[in-house]
Amino acid sequence: MRKPIIAGNWKLHKTISESCELATQLVADLSDIDDIDVVIAPVFTALSAVAETLKGSSIQLAAQNCFPETSGAFTGEVSPDFLQDAGCNYVIVGHSERRQLLNETDAFINQKLLKVITTGLKPILCIGETLQQRQNDQMQEVLRTQLKGGLGNLSAAQMAPMVIAYEPVWAIGTGKTATNDQAQEAHRFIRNLLQQIYNSEIAAQTRIIYGGSVKPDNVAGLMQQEDIDGALVGGASLKVADFSRIVRFEK
Ligand code: PEP
Repeated sequence: MRKPIIAGNWKLHKTISESCELATQLVADLSDIDDIDVVIAPVFTALSAVAETLKGSSIQLAAQNCFPETSGAFTGEVSPDFLQDAGCNYVIVGHSERRQLLNETDAFINQKLLKVITTGLKPILCIGETLQQRQNDQMQEVLRTQLKGGLGNLSAAQMAPMVIAYEPVWAIGTGKTATNDQAQEAHRFIRNLLQQIYNSEIAAQTRIIYGGSVKPDNVAGLMQQEDIDGALVGGASLKVADFSRIVRFEK
């Protein structure tokens, strides 16, 4: 059985004190949740302080990015080792905003995934097509390229901690959610690709989560889909009431 995971991507929002305040409220609101992995991803500067706030709770901490080295002359970068030192359990890799704004390639994303996994952290690999690619009937091709390129030569054993987030770019921060059927179709396609690249065991065990304007209103329908194992939530993860309802699949 795949344990559901709901992850909140706070992007470039919230100061250290605001992040701790939100984390404190979530710890209180979600103290009864033990059947779902709840993950929050604050900005780098707030990670250590939020890690302290989360101590003793089951909410886990993610970083929004990393650099695929341990340490050295890499000005401005942060490695998985240092993220682990700050208290992180997960790292988001290959978010579409980074692919688009910072020209991240699948090859670079592959290096990050490898480093995250060898450091002992869990990656959340984001893939997804733009509106134009969907309209040009290229969704499958894009997902195949990003998945194969991102995973590169990761072994089946290295896939154990992997979470894949299907995030259609046209649904991120736009208020447009994929329909339940559209999301399920893409998730099924990704699971079939995992079977082709690896085997049926990896395909069955890997958690594939949906991201793109997830809200309390649409989470229940998405979570009822056979191949949807959770959500990566942007905007709605900044509001304690909304995120708590999403974690409970409640309107
Ligand atoms: C995201 O940033 O990964 C995301 C899905 O954002 P939103 O929920 O705001 O669309």
